[in-house]
Amino acid sequence: MTAKPTTAAGEEFACTAVDAGMLLVEPATQRNRGQGPFNRLILRGATVIDGTGAPPWGPADIVVEAGRITSIKSVGTPGMPIVAAHRPGPGDHEIDCHGKFVTPGFVDCHAHIGTSLHSLSGAMAPADYVYKLWLAHGVTTVREMGCFNGLGWTLDQKAKSETHTIAAPRILAYPYFPAVNDMLKVIHTPDEAQTWLRTVKDRGADGVKFFGGPPRLMQAALAHCATLGLRSGCHHAQQAVARMNTLKTATWGLTSQEHYYGLPEALFEERTLQDYQPDYNYNDEYLRFSVAGQGFRQAARPGSQKWKDVLGQFLDLDFTFVPTFSIYDANRDLMRARRADWHDEYTWAGLWKYFQPSRGGHGAYWHRWSVTDEVQWKEQYRLWMHFLNDYKNLGGRVCTGSDSGFIFQIYGFGFVRELELLQEAGFTPLEVLSAATSKGAELLGLHDEVGSIDVGKCADLLVHDQNPLSDFKLLYGTGAMRLDDASHQVEMRRAIRYTVKAGIVYEVAELLEDVRNMVAFSKEAERREAA
Ligand SMILES: [Zn+2]
Repeated sequence: MTAKPTTAAGEEFACTAVDAGMLLVEPATQRNRGQGPFNRLILRGATVIDGTGAPPWGPADIVVEAGRITSIKSVGTPGMPIVAAHRPGPGDHEIDCHGKFVTPGFVDCHAHIGTSLHSLSGAMAPADYVYKLWLAHGVTTVREMGCFNGLGWTLDQKAKSETHTIAAPRILAYPYFPAVNDMLKVIHTPDEAQTWLRTVKDRGADGVKFFGGPPRLMQAALAHCATLGLRSGCHHAQQAVARMNTLKTATWGLTSQEHYYGLPEALFEERTLQDYQPDYNYNDEYLRFSVAGQGFRQAARPGSQKWKDVLGQFLDLDFTFVPTFSIYDANRDLMRARRADWHDEYTWAGLWKYFQPSRGGHGAYWHRWSVTDEVQWKEQYRLWMHFLNDYKNLGGRVCTGSDSGFIFQIYGFGFVRELELLQEAGFTPLEVLSAATSKGAELLGLHDEVGSIDVGKCADLLVHDQNPLSDFKLLYGTGAMRLDDASHQVEMRRAIRYTVKAGIVYEVAELLEDVRNMVAFSKEAERREAA
């Protein structure tokens, strides 16, 4: 546990949680995994999938010096011996990548390093658990959407990640803009908004997470974000969408929409507001999430003039969508999400408890979940995916975010599920990979640093034993099920062998082992507590 956060701008959410008796996530303080940095790291003989959308090519030798890619050399032709003369000279550390695939590290554009809400369900997972699950699933960059442990806490972890003091992805800090009636409101005027934004910018924030708010505040705040160079993402809370749908906030300068809220509202043509059932109450999480699955059905049909017009307007604004499909996946098939392969060994005990149905907990609305809810949500996904696939086809930017830590989704695994769901939406595997790498880097303003395999960029690289484009399920820490034809045995095959972040080489098997041990410890502690 950390000390109580200060009352500075960006700490409001954490302060409120601590005042309510909740705890903050235990930050990481040291690094016990990962080799490097090396003066000269060489990946030899790789098939390169560079993240720009270009198809695989190789074999190539990739040279990394002081954490950056300094050379990428073609060293031959598939099926022929390597051309030794083309090879760069030796490094102080080399990875044999013959027969292997190298992609950029992944960008999770909607991530939380835990949340104080989890402390309501027992001992909380430390940040180390979250980071290792991310790194084990190839996530080398995360946009922390809300900084729920406080901006100061998040900036400390960001700095420690940058210096490799801890084993963690690079972190971008987007503190929570506190101007929401039903959640947390300390900003009431555009002047207060400007002061707050300037303060968080000066403290080191990379952007801002919005949940809505009064339109005049939002408009002023987004204009001021542009002045300060702060990027923004908004979860248009259901309580806010009547006054501003996503098209409106996009016009005011919002950088990205998170989830889907506010998008059906932009597509309404036979109504202006979603038609709610009479007993609706937003604070009833069952009603909140079941009725949320009816939005797209009330909106313009795919291919209609309205549909096309809205797509065109978002495109003109160069707007970005971060759908976080995976976080609502349980809504259309609860049993699937609840029985996922990884829960037994990789889901922290307190987190598992947090996911169970309860009246109070966020996203724990299963006490009434029904076939009807699942069918409605399947239809909701069909329409939502159709819109985003159309947007991608027109040249629009759609990025990968997981929002894990809620609704039966855990870190890393939820991110890989997001890749599966983009493919289900109609993205080809190469398009999915681009969304997860170069598109994410663009959204975060890091496109000169990460997101593709290019000379001059940071060495955020994944070494895969198998081609991830052939099946994203191979990226799961638990692997994908295959039959070994020689032994006739079923085996779980896993693709990522090494996650390289800024030149530090993490062995994924070790990270996964650490997580399994942490989870076993959490269960043991819970058993002792109960005894
Ligand atoms: Zn979130």
